[in-house]
Amino acid sequence: MKRLYKTLKITAFSFLFQGIIGCDYFPENSIERVIPTKISSPITKSKPEGQHTDIPLDSNELKVDSIPHQLPIDSTKNYVYLTFDDGPFKGSEKINKIIKEEQVKATVFIVGMNAYTQTLQKYLKDYEENDLIEVSNHTYSHANRNRFKSYYDQPEFVLRDVKRNDSIYRFKNRFVRLPGRNVWRLGKDFKNDHDLGSRLSSDFLAKNQYYILGWDYEWNKTHKNHPLKNPQDIYNGIIKRLENKETFKEKHLVILMHDDMFDNHEDAEQLRRLIRLIKNNKNIILETASNYPISLS
Ligand SMILES: [Zn+2]
Repeated sequence: MKRLYKTLKITAFSFLFQGIIGCDYFPENSIERVIPTKISSPITKSKPEGQHTDIPLDSNELKVDSIPHQLPIDSTKNYVYLTFDDGPFKGSEKINKIIKEEQVKATVFIVGMNAYTQTLQKYLKDYEENDLIEVSNHTYSHANRNRFKSYYDQPEFVLRDVKRNDSIYRFKNRFVRLPGRNVWRLGKDFKNDHDLGSRLSSDFLAKNQYYILGWDYEWNKTHKNHPLKNPQDIYNGIIKRLENKETFKEKHLVILMHDDMFDNHEDAEQLRRLIRLIKNNKNIILETASNYPISLS
């Protein structure tokens, strides 16, 4: 833990003035996502002076099983996976609190470079200490700060970025969510997004024993001033997709949300309402990402 804080401290210093990053669903004029105009070079072993000097880039020493020990599936039930991307971020604190209070399982996909202030580091620590939350990998740099095309065109760069996040945060699983691309790689089951780059990068990650979880349904916020869509509508959307078999795997639905959606009290309570609607349906089990079934043969 001491080592983690030392690393976080350096990370915080490096990114103090660089802003935070996230997914590409935000409108260009959104003030939340400050993308530096300076083009950054790919992450390499030789880094700029004074930056990340103690971040190991090789995660070979990770003590994580490449084949996860998964919980048995009850084939009579439907499974829903609550997933939150881009944390630690504003909203993380409220998500953590609600998950605890509602006693449900959830998965957070973490962007390493977002933990650049003490407050954000605290949010991440709270996630790590919450037994109901599984902390997983959303790459260290969020596709080199949303430069999706050039990022995914370099599979080795993508792998190194994922490993960098792993090396710092020591995730207890090898599940990854790719930034800005809905790609799946779960054993022999797979699905691609529109571009060749993310396909090749995903194949390379899978070859290196990472599992990639996409999503079936997104609860999104299209503009910072728009209210969140009604949780009842989102719940109805979940049920419709499960009933109509419109999911990557039948009877399993992954819902994508983002930490910053739940920054204020009203929106956080909308999350609670969605969770309660799901909890009240006794045919649904809420589970974490690493228990999503993997077809190995
Ligand atoms: Zn993201």
